[in-house]
This record gives sequence, structure tokens and C-alpha cells, in this order.
Amino acid sequence: MNIAHWLVSAAQRHPQAPALAWGRTVLHNHAGLARQVSAMAAGLVNLGLKPGDRVGLVMRNHPAYWESLLSIWHAGLVAVPIHSQLHPKELAYIFADAGTPLVLAHPSTLSACEQAAALSPTVRHVIDVGAAAYRQLAQASPMAMVERAPSDLAWLFYTSGTTGRPKGVMLSHLNLMAMCGHYFADVDTIAVQDCVVHAAPMSHGSGLYTLPHLAQAACNVVPESGGFDAQELFDLGAHWSGITMFAAPTMLKRLVESPIDDPFTGLKTIVYGGGPMYVADIEAALARFGPRFAQIYGQGESPMTITVSTKAMHQDHHHPRHAMRLASVGRPFQGLEVKVMDAQDQVLPLDEIGEVCVRGQVVMQGYWQNPNASAQTLRNGWLHTGDMGSLDEEGYLTLKDRSKDLIISGGTNIYPREVEEVLLLHPDISEVSVVGQAHPEWGEEVVAFVVLRPHALVDQAQALHALDAHCLDHMARFKRPKQYRVLQQLPKNETGKVLKTELRQLLNV
Ligand code: AMP
Repeated sequence: MNIAHWLVSAAQRHPQAPALAWGRTVLHNHAGLARQVSAMAAGLVNLGLKPGDRVGLVMRNHPAYWESLLSIWHAGLVAVPIHSQLHPKELAYIFADAGTPLVLAHPSTLSACEQAAALSPTVRHVIDVGAAAYRQLAQASPMAMVERAPSDLAWLFYTSGTTGRPKGVMLSHLNLMAMCGHYFADVDTIAVQDCVVHAAPMSHGSGLYTLPHLAQAACNVVPESGGFDAQELFDLGAHWSGITMFAAPTMLKRLVESPIDDPFTGLKTIVYGGGPMYVADIEAALARFGPRFAQIYGQGESPMTITVSTKAMHQDHHHPRHAMRLASVGRPFQGLEVKVMDAQDQVLPLDEIGEVCVRGQVVMQGYWQNPNASAQTLRNGWLHTGDMGSLDEEGYLTLKDRSKDLIISGGTNIYPREVEEVLLLHPDISEVSVVGQAHPEWGEEVVAFVVLRPHALVDQAQALHALDAHCLDHMARFKRPKQYRVLQQLPKNETGKVLKTELRQLLNV
């Protein structure tokens, strides 16, 4: 039951329908893509890869991403999509943890991947998808698809964890198929003439939307800029029709506030999610683009699928609870169990706040080579999301707080512990605690409260400058603190735990 069979099926049903486009240019129809994929899969096998091997994908949005993903599955391999802006040291950790023999890199990430590969014992090949070596993969003789069991791994999705180290979320072929079933049941229908435009990173949220579109033989469109550009999206909206787009709240806000006067004609659906959406912002979006919005709440561990706010709900203005519904993350997907539980895993009554827990076929198999974290997160048969929320009498879930300290900046998760651990490596720092501060454009920005060692206090400005350089040397730019606040000591409770709530209050002083 390899999910790559969906391409073979699409090629049989709609051989001539566009399958992959770069901007306005169609690169493959389904028959052509199926041919390319079966040859590229053979090219990967010729490199010595065996079923179950993990292949790192470190790319900005690019058509090669979709070709590679399908070829990896066709050959029975496992895809490891990785954020394209990670620091070489962060990449090296993931390559080593996943044990990847091969990394496929976008030209813009090639140098970082090569540096990381030098630190990762398992990496044997780094291939630039813009170079001849990548095109040569497809010169091999096509191979038959490698069959997979439903629980076999398809996707290893690296997410950061509260321990500060990224963990590999194991998603099987069946998990991904279940995810698509949920999408069709509750989010939207897709026709063969439709397409998905990938304006958000394909290594994360947007990448999952490739699959329901493949199932219906619709087209995957990758913007030529490889990212989010309002003008480009409006232009694509004039060319393509039946467009679905995934947008993090930050992106949606930028689109809604864009001065470009364009009705976005081809747009069918924007699915938003990945972080909290303010009611005023979704109302502004509805006012500008009309009834084209659905919201999804999910996480890597239950991809794209925990609750959904349907298009119909967004339009039901006369409902007495409309404002509450809009502020919620919608209702559980059909066929998925969602409960709010207390710390003892007891189901809480309606309207009480507890941890959101999920059970169903879409839930991950566990964390890669991390039995302790898997057992903790999947205890008693339920995925413990780490998100706090409450269910109301109509079944709507409202998230009260994210997994308490998680910072979401520009739709991307930043785990304070990860930033803290990097800062603590610096000799000027004695203590540190990182929190998020509300930011009008990015949702939140990273602020570090630091206690400096006495020698650093002599020239504080210089010390803070050095900290910034240190962060740039160790982690992705978007994760580093945008502000430092120096304290004599961190506020702590009686057991010595830092009181982040008090730090957040200091931000407003
Ligand atoms: P990730 O695993 O990177 O997809 O991040 C998932 C986390 O993002 C969830 O556990 C939530 O904390 C947050 N999240 C996802 N979707 C929503 C949403 N629609 N509203 C609020 N927070 C969300």
C-alpha cells in the first residue's frame, strides 16, 4: 500500500492533466511525472539505497521537492523533509539522528548541507537538485514500485521538543492516507482541474497538501520565488483556477493587508492554521476574499488533522455563537477522537481546560529511536498534544494556551529550551530564560532574559553583541533572540523553576 501508487493511479485516470508546475509553466503531466518518478527511484537505488533508508530533503520550495518525495516513496525509502534555513550544526544533528545516507539539497542550502554532511558519519551523498547529478538520477531504467506495509515509515518529520532536541515524528503510509481521507471528509473537495499553490514551506505544513491533490490528479504549483510573495500569488491567481493554499496566520495577514487591488480570481480555498488566528484578522480576511476560508488545527504528530473550522461555519454569521466559533479551532475531524484530559489522563467535563488528546489512524507511530518520548507522548493509547484547551457543548475546541512556552513566530515553532541551551554555551551567560513577546507582524518574537557573569557586566553592550554573534554561529537566524533583557537574577519558585509568567509580565513594564 505504498502511497506512491496514487501517482500511478492518477496517471492512468488523467494522463494528460497537469501534475507539477513551476509558476505558470507545467513541467509534467501525470503520465510524464509517473515515468520520471519510476526512473528517479531506480537512480536512488543505484546509489546503494535500500528500502527503509532515510533521505534528507533540504530545500526551499522547488519542483524537485515533489519529484524527489514521490521517487523516494516509489523506491520504498523514507523522506526526511528538513527546514531549509537550519544552521549546519542543526542539520548535522538531524542527519545523524535519522541516519541519512543521502541528502537532496536546493542550491541555496548546498553549502550548509555539505558542512553538515562533513559532521555526519552516515551521509554518503549530497546532491544539488539544480545540478547534472540530480538530472542523471532520472536517466536510470524505470523500476517497479517497492511495496510497503501500512505501518511502514513514509515521512520522518523533525519537530523540536521540550527537551530542546529535534525529534523525528514517524508517519507511516497509512497515516498519510488517513490524513487525506479526513481532508476530503471535512475540509474540501478537489477536482482534477484544481491545484494547490505552495506559498508556505513544503518541508512543513504546505507539503502535506501535495497528497490530497495527488489523490484527485490535481496539480501541484510551486511559485517561482520559492516562497511567499503577494504579487506573485495574485498573478498565479489570474492564471490558475481552483487554487487551494495553506497559509500561516502571518502570511494571511500580509495577503489581506496587501495594497495590491486584486480579487484573487482563481482562489478556491485558503486553509489557515499552524498558530493562533485573531478573530479580527479572520474577519478582515473574510471581508476581503469572501467565503474561501477553512481552519485546521493539527501538529506533526497528527498531521493536518485534529480539529477543523469549515467554510460553512465561517459563513454562519447569524449563529448566536458565531464569535465564539470563530475564536475556536473548530470541531474534531470525523472518525478522530479528541478529548480534553487532566494530568492523570482523566477526561474532563465540557468547558474545563486540560490537555488536548487525540486517538485515530492519523496519529504518528512514535518518535524515531526515542522510546521514552514516544511512551510519554502516546501514553494510554492517546496522543498528548501538549496543547491546552477546552471543548464546548457544540463540540468546538478552543485552545487556551499553546504547549505553555512554545513561541510561534511567523508561523514557525521556536522552542525556548533550544535557544536557551545554545545561549548557555556562551561563557558570558550564567542564566537564561527565553519567552515570546507579542509582535504585530510575526505573531511573536523571541526575547531572552539573561543573567550575565560579572566580567561581562563591565561592557554589557559588547557582551550582548557577542551573544548575537554566538547565536548566529549555532542556529537558524529566525530562532535567535531579537531582544535581550539583562537581570540580576531570574524569578524562580521554591523548587528553583524559573517563573516564565513573571518574565512575561516584565515585558509589559
Ligand atoms: P507543528 O507540529 O510544527 O505543526 O506545530 C503544531 C502546533 O502549532 C500545535 O501543537 C499548536 O500548538 C499550534 N497550532 C497548530 N494549528 C493551530 C491553530 N489552528 N490554532 C492555534 N494553534 C495551532
